Amino acid sequence: NSSLHEVDPDVAAAVDAELHRQQSTLEMIASENFAPVAALEAQGSVLTNKYAEGYPGRRYYGGCEHVDVVERLARDRVKELFGAEAANVQPHSGASANAAAMFALLKPGDTIMGLDLAHGGHLTHGMKINFSGKLYNVVAYRVDEQSSLVDMDEVEKLAKEHRPQMIIAGWSAYPRQLDFAAFRRIADEVGALLLVDMAHFAGLVAAGLHPSPVPYADVVTTTTHKTLGGPRGGVILSTKEHAKKINSAVFPGQQGGPLEHVIAAKAVSFKIAASDEFKERQQRTLEGARILAERLTRQDAVDAGVSVLSGGTDVHLVLVDLRHSELDGQQAEDRLHEIGITVNRNAVPNDPRPPMVTSGLRVGTPALATRGFQAEDFTEVADIIAEALKPGTDEAATKALADRVTALAAKHPLYPGLNA
Ligand code: PLP
Repeated sequence: NSSLHEVDPDVAAAVDAELHRQQSTLEMIASENFAPVAALEAQGSVLTNKYAEGYPGRRYYGGCEHVDVVERLARDRVKELFGAEAANVQPHSGASANAAAMFALLKPGDTIMGLDLAHGGHLTHGMKINFSGKLYNVVAYRVDEQSSLVDMDEVEKLAKEHRPQMIIAGWSAYPRQLDFAAFRRIADEVGALLLVDMAHFAGLVAAGLHPSPVPYADVVTTTTHKTLGGPRGGVILSTKEHAKKINSAVFPGQQGGPLEHVIAAKAVSFKIAASDEFKERQQRTLEGARILAERLTRQDAVDAGVSVLSGGTDVHLVLVDLRHSELDGQQAEDRLHEIGITVNRNAVPNDPRPPMVTSGLRVGTPALATRGFQAEDFTEVADIIAEALKPGTDEAATKALADRVTALAAKHPLYPGLNA
C-alpha cells in the first residue's frame, strides 16, 4: 500500500513534472482540456480492478453490482445530456468508438465518405493506413480552396457518384459548424447511413451552443476528453434501431473488459456537463476563440503574414494560416513553446509545405476556459501569440512574452489542491 513516490520515484517524478508543466504553461492544443479533480479521483479508484465484460445486468463476471451502478449512471446521463435514444459508454477512445460504429454498420469493402485528413478530417475517417482506409473504400471530400469551408454541393456530387454506405461528418481541425440537415438529406438521397463524429465540439453541443447532430445522425461518436472536459475515452450514441448491433460491435466485437474506472469518470463529467457552470465555461471557450480570431486578423498580424482560415471561427479553435509568413508551422509551434504556450502545427488545405512542417497552427481555448480565463485574459493571450508570430523576435522580446505567459498562468491557478 505504499505510495507512488515510494514504489516508483522515476514515474512519480515524471508525473510531478507533467503536473508542473500543465500548471505553469498555457495549454492551447484544441483537443485537450483539464479533467476535474472528481473525475481524476474516480479514474484513480479501485474500479480499475474489476472485470465486467458484457453490459449492466448481463455480465460475464460475478461481483459487478457496483460497476453496474456506475455504468448505468454514465449511460443514462449521456443519453439525457444529448437527447439520444441509446448510448454505449465503453469505447476506450474516440478511435475505438469510430472503429466499433463502422464495424457494427458496415462490411469490409463498403464505401465511406469522410473529410480528407489534410483538410481537417480525422485518421479514422478514411486515412489510407488507418483501419478505416484499409477496411473500407474511401471517398474523401475536401474544403473549398477559397472559402476553406466544406462545400455541400461537392459532398452531394461525390455521394451521388460513389453511393457510399456511410457518410461521416465531423472534424479534428475545422473552425466552423457543419450543416447536419444537409448531410442527412444527402445521405437519404443515396441510401447512406450518417455518422457524425462530434469529438471536438461535443462540449459545445452539451451546453446548447452548437447545433446538435443527434436528431440528424444514425450514429454520433465522441471523445469525452476534448471540449467535454472529462477523462480520456469514447462514447457512441445512436438511435434504438442500431443500438444492439453497436453494443455487440463494442463487446465482444472489438473490446474485452470495459474500463469501469474510466466509465465512472465519464459519469462524473456528464453530470458536470449538465450544469450551468459548464455552460458558462463553454461560452467563455467560444468567446476566447472569437477574440483570438479577431486579434489574429488585425493589420499587424496581416503585415506579419498571419491570417485565420475561413476568416474567423464558430467553435473552440482557430486555424492560423502561415502560408504568407516567414515562419512555417514547426517554427511557429516552437516559438510559442519557447514562451510557454502549447499548440500544435497543422496542415492548411493544399499546404505547400510537407506534413511534418506544415503552414498552419491549430489553436484552441477549451483548456484555458476550464482554467477560468475571461475575455480580458484571452485578449492578452491573443496579443502575446500575435507578437510571438512576428518575424525577427529577439531574446529580450521572447523573455518579455514568456513573463506575460507566466503572469496569466499565475492569475488562474490550475489544480491548486494538487501539488508536485
Ligand atoms: N474523432 C475526432 C474528430 C478526433 O479529433 C479525434 C482525436 O483527435 C478522435 C476521433 C480520436 O480520439 P482518440 O484520440 O481518443 O482515439
